Amino acid sequence: MSLITNHMPTSELQALDAAHHLHPFTHGHDLAKKGARVITRAKGVTLTDSDGNEFLDAMAGLWCVNLGYGRHELAEAAARQMKELPYYNTFFQTTHVPAIALADRLAELTPYDLNNVFFASSGSEANDTNIRLVRTYWQEKGHPQKNIIITRKNAYHGSSMGSASLGGMAYMHAQGGMPIPDIHHIDQPHWWAEGGDMDPNEFGLQRARALEEAILELGEDRVGAFIGEPIQGAGGVIIPPETYWPEIQRICDKYNILLIADEVICGFGRTGKWFGSETMGIRPHIMTVAKGISSGYAPVGGSIVCDEVAEVLNNCEFSHGYTYSGHPVTCAVALENLRILDEEGIVEQAGSETAPYLKEKWESLADHPLVGEAKVIGLMGSIALTPDKASRAKFASVAGTVGLMCREHCFANSLIMRHVGDRMVISPPLIITKDEVDQLIVRASRALDLTHKQLIDEGMM
Ligand code: PMP
Repeated sequence: MSLITNHMPTSELQALDAAHHLHPFTHGHDLAKKGARVITRAKGVTLTDSDGNEFLDAMAGLWCVNLGYGRHELAEAAARQMKELPYYNTFFQTTHVPAIALADRLAELTPYDLNNVFFASSGSEANDTNIRLVRTYWQEKGHPQKNIIITRKNAYHGSSMGSASLGGMAYMHAQGGMPIPDIHHIDQPHWWAEGGDMDPNEFGLQRARALEEAILELGEDRVGAFIGEPIQGAGGVIIPPETYWPEIQRICDKYNILLIADEVICGFGRTGKWFGSETMGIRPHIMTVAKGISSGYAPVGGSIVCDEVAEVLNNCEFSHGYTYSGHPVTCAVALENLRILDEEGIVEQAGSETAPYLKEKWESLADHPLVGEAKVIGLMGSIALTPDKASRAKFASVAGTVGLMCREHCFANSLIMRHVGDRMVISPPLIITKDEVDQLIVRASRALDLTHKQLIDEGMM
């Protein structure tokens, strides 16, 4: 076996990678043709690849490195915990200090009476937990038929069978046996793409009322929960009209169904407050968390449930759990991350200083001839690329062609910005400085100019 290190030529690393590594959400042909980008180091908001190129990571990895890269305190917390107790489980009436401490801290940080945590290693696992948890809750309450969970088209809740079923990505469902039974999808509150001539607030109400219609159609006695991301992330950073969430809340309250806020992206400062539910005025019974809880330094997530749901669950043995539920090392890393976010005032700074600055700059991109709308809340934003702003038209090319073009221009200009179809999205580390925001905007503008020029040169516009 050869020793594979950062010092090998990029082409060799890419060849080995393509030979043996199956990648998530990557086309095998692209991998074989071009190879993968090899990232070797990171600090703050900057990534370095194996050729020494540097990129401003406007995606915080996969929406997760809220604290920024290179905080050694987290590595030290992991090392300390590994030396003391590298592993023990939390099954069969056993516990350990990192799990106790993290659950306690989360109960303090989350709003309302979300005081009880069931740990997982990822957002997908936590959402799978939620499906079983909701169904067990209603069964224990004597309503075993309240099995249906209502969710939304174009939602993203994970990649496992359960969580991808909760998700509304048609291209994922097309790859085998999804959605699982008793998951029902309603339309999303995506005014830009689907609102037509309606006023955004009227549209928000209409899309929220689709929940009420679904409950009445499926039967109030069959619906157990509704799940939604406070702001859809992987669907394209879709900020719903103001009228949407209050109406969803009213409907959940009226029909006595559990409201699950999937805070995997929105949690831990992303929207300018600790949780997206606070920013959007949602009072959930259950929150899904992951990503920012550890800033991605260790795989940890969980379902945080309100007292009433916990009380019912505690009346039975919930036959569910993962070997790594409450893993001591990941809990220790998450605790250290939350300590730093709190003690250094990073969430407050992001919300009160960086977010307004980013908003002003980001929204100015709407003046670009290719940009239809530029929206941001806290430190998550999106722009819609369009050939015609007035009619909010789509490009004639296959959806995503122009977005991908723009993403490649971003890479070539030292910026990592993701595309979702023909929308460009950002979610930078919360520690991004105003100077770095300026760099982000300069590089994004340049990428937009180059995309515009390419579209004209190729007769696509
Ligand atoms: N929920 C949301 C809202 C997400 O954005 C994601 C991941 N992007 C998940 C769940 C799944 O999390 P994971 O990839 O950690 O399984």
